[in-house]
Amino acid sequence: MEVMSGNFIHTFIDEDIAEGGAYYGKKVHTRFPPEPNGYLHIGHAKAVFVNFGTAQKYNGLCNLRMDDTNPSKEDVEYVDAIKEDISWLGFDWGDRFYFASDYFEKMYGYAVELIEKGLAYVCELTGEQMREYRGDLSTPAKSPYRDRPIEESLDLFKRMREGEFEDGKMTLRAKIDLASGNFNMRDPVLYRISHAHHHRTGNKWCIYPMYDFAHPIEDAIEGITHSLCTLEFEAHRPLYDWVVENISAPSKPRQIEFARLGINNTVMSKRKLRQLVEENHVDGWDDPRMPTICGLRRRGYTPASIRSFTDQIGVSKVNSTVEYSFLEHCLRDDLNENAARAMAVLDPIKLVITNYPEDKTEEFEVENHPNHPEMGTRTVTFSRELYIESTDFMEEPIKKYQRLYPGNEVRIKSAYIVKCTGCDKDENGNVTTVYAEYDPETRGGNTPDGRKVRGTIHWVNAEDCIDAEIRLYDNLFTVPDPDAQEDDFTNYINPESLTVLNNCKLESSLKNAGKTDRFQFMRQGYFCLDSKDSTDDKLVFNRAVGLKDSFKKK
Ligand code: ATP
Ligand code: MG
Repeated sequence: MEVMSGNFIHTFIDEDIAEGGAYYGKKVHTRFPPEPNGYLHIGHAKAVFVNFGTAQKYNGLCNLRMDDTNPSKEDVEYVDAIKEDISWLGFDWGDRFYFASDYFEKMYGYAVELIEKGLAYVCELTGEQMREYRGDLSTPAKSPYRDRPIEESLDLFKRMREGEFEDGKMTLRAKIDLASGNFNMRDPVLYRISHAHHHRTGNKWCIYPMYDFAHPIEDAIEGITHSLCTLEFEAHRPLYDWVVENISAPSKPRQIEFARLGINNTVMSKRKLRQLVEENHVDGWDDPRMPTICGLRRRGYTPASIRSFTDQIGVSKVNSTVEYSFLEHCLRDDLNENAARAMAVLDPIKLVITNYPEDKTEEFEVENHPNHPEMGTRTVTFSRELYIESTDFMEEPIKKYQRLYPGNEVRIKSAYIVKCTGCDKDENGNVTTVYAEYDPETRGGNTPDGRKVRGTIHWVNAEDCIDAEIRLYDNLFTVPDPDAQEDDFTNYINPESLTVLNNCKLESSLKNAGKTDRFQFMRQGYFCLDSKDSTDDKLVFNRAVGLKDSFKKK
């Protein structure tokens, strides 16, 4: 696999592992800690890449950890999907797959340790009171319970665990600094009471640790050296360090924050993606218009294209929004090199070659890729009746039109030069059949006399082509930033984000298309079978991306 490009995180790590650094002589060890409450999206792919890619670069290790300290929301379906997506992206956690909830007992122990050290206390302020007593920049926060005896806190905390108190009645708070300019340090809550069912621990616990307390402990228990997370945790780092400093944890990880990825014309938060699914705006988490990894996979994205995207957007400290067209650009780059070529007609009309024998069929050996002979050839058949795109014929051509119109010559890709002789129309004036004559001297599409033929069109043989449904996609939202709208973001769903073409004709070789194959359909873009809806009886192809690159390097 490609080695990740350098960035500021690697500069920090280089310092840390150099002689005299905090991790001198240690293996770099990172982790990817998704909360299993939804499917991974392209933003997560960045975090996966940063954590796994960095470990790989330093010959280190990266753990996969389900951050499931929050009860009730998690689901096994999500856990399995997350594993599948990370594997598909090409990363491997070996035997280091963990659940944060497995550390509940240890976390409880560290909380007791803090109380014993006089560094935590049980507070009986309600949520509302706590907000009221929070103070502001010039006024410190306050809690009348701060100086209660250690023994009392120990007793209350134990009884909290035993279920004696109802939700919200008490919390365990760190005793840090009520006047801190960083509000996260004003005696933050470490534990709350919640009589909620947990997907793994069931009803064993009725107190749950807060993220800021749990996360550094999870990292320390696993021997993580570098905890790479997104920028919103920057102001929480002093608390992260405080926890690591004050508990007798086996190791002292370092948190480094990087910018979140945003992409325009889509939404990325799991809550919003879930809303799209639950309100049936899309066909599930893996709808090809979704920015989820499974959606991109079904759409036709390759792991290499997503890795290349996450590498090229870079890792920095500045949040930015990347154009969707750049993601498409990365896919096009990959598929242009690696996808086999084929022909498909999306909106067919008949083309009859009137001077071609009715009972004759010819075979042409066509290369699968213009630059890669090693990708081999395939057989394309030709006969008297073909299908061509309806837009490749105009009875009365517009200016500069170089395709079929009466009297004009066109190259039928890889086969022959034909000259258009006319057409049939139905009662509404729509063209039903186009007629042409072929030049037998031009086999393979060459002109021995050197005459110029400007237009080349794709086609399929009407005799053996296969029927298919083809789905074309556009942005899921009509506005660049659906999150920033005043009303509900679902009001901005693009009604034309999905176009279903029912009457497409494919060259016969595509009968053998595999579910993971990608093709360039000549002049139409890059396509793959729809992994969910395509069957042997009814082929369904998705257009992953068109041919035209709207991304311009700035
Ligand atoms: P969301 O807001 O989309 O629900 P989250 O941060 O709650 O995301 P987690 O499951 O907690 O989702 O995320 C796991 C990891 O992925 C975290 O370390 C988080 O920082 C990172 N991550 C999530 N979204 C992005 C993003 N858009 N860009 C980069 N990293 C991200
Ligand atoms: Mg989260």
